[in-house]
Amino acid sequence: MILDKFSLNGKVAVVTGSDTGLGQGVSKAFVEAGAKVLGVSRVSSEDTQKMLGEDNFKFVIADLAALDPIDMIINTAVKEFGRLDILVNNAGVIKREDCIDFSVKNWDLVMNVNCRTLFFLSQAAAKQFMKQNSGGKIISIASMLSYQGGIRVPSYTASKSAVKGITMTMANEWAQHGINVNAIAPGYMATNNTQALRADAARSEAILDRIPAGRWGTPDDIMGAAVFLASSASDYVNGFTIAVDGGWLGR
Ligand code: NAP
Repeated sequence: MILDKFSLNGKVAVVTGSDTGLGQGVSKAFVEAGAKVLGVSRVSSEDTQKMLGEDNFKFVIADLAALDPIDMIINTAVKEFGRLDILVNNAGVIKREDCIDFSVKNWDLVMNVNCRTLFFLSQAAAKQFMKQNSGGKIISIASMLSYQGGIRVPSYTASKSAVKGITMTMANEWAQHGINVNAIAPGYMATNNTQALRADAARSEAILDRIPAGRWGTPDDIMGAAVFLASSASDYVNGFTIAVDGGWLGR
């Protein structure tokens, strides 16, 4: 039955950036669909654990600006839950500064978290899927700035455009192993990431005016796409970045 294909019963996922925002929403969606989740964040994901229960959601604390925690993350998921089936690269950071003044520090931090670690964590997850001979699902959180330039966010735009590109590269190489690599490009969602934009009345109004759905998105809005891409319902979807944007890209 088609709805059975959306079930994540018995699946194990790693979700980065699980303490808040979209990562918390994805963790909730996966547990509701039957999966066990290992969350990863710089700070404690205690609130997410309280919401989802200790049996369903465990977490580790790691700074994804560096590659060092990657082995620990994969090993902890396998140790706690016995296997790994799904990776969601959700952790991300944005730095706003005029291009003319943009610092090397803000370039490197954003590229490291949003792109460099995302690639090498995906590589480690793919190795685990191949070792298990199980196939697997990798979902990265891209952005409208995978398609557009944005303003005052050059490293973020570079990193998210790269996410869309390497999603296709990884998909091309790993589809033969039963590994689906895809991405979700959220539109403008009400989370910490957009706090500065929403606090700026003029920018907030300009953004809202351009969204056909007429509202900011919420973490609930990406739950359906995340479960679809994590489930066997998407077994023939490879290398695509799905917009969940209230129509923004269509304008
Ligand atoms: P958020 O509330 O700021 O969440 C970002 C998450 O990434 C947090 O859990 C954060 O942990 C984690 N993170 C950042 N730097 C990290 C690091 N060095 N090591 C480990 N974890 C780190 O914003 P969000 O909107 O939920 O963002 C989730 C993803 O969606 C990001 O990739 C973002 O770029 C993307 N996105 C968001 C929007 C939007 O409109 N909100 C639109 C398009 C794409 P801390 O809590 O410790 O900082």
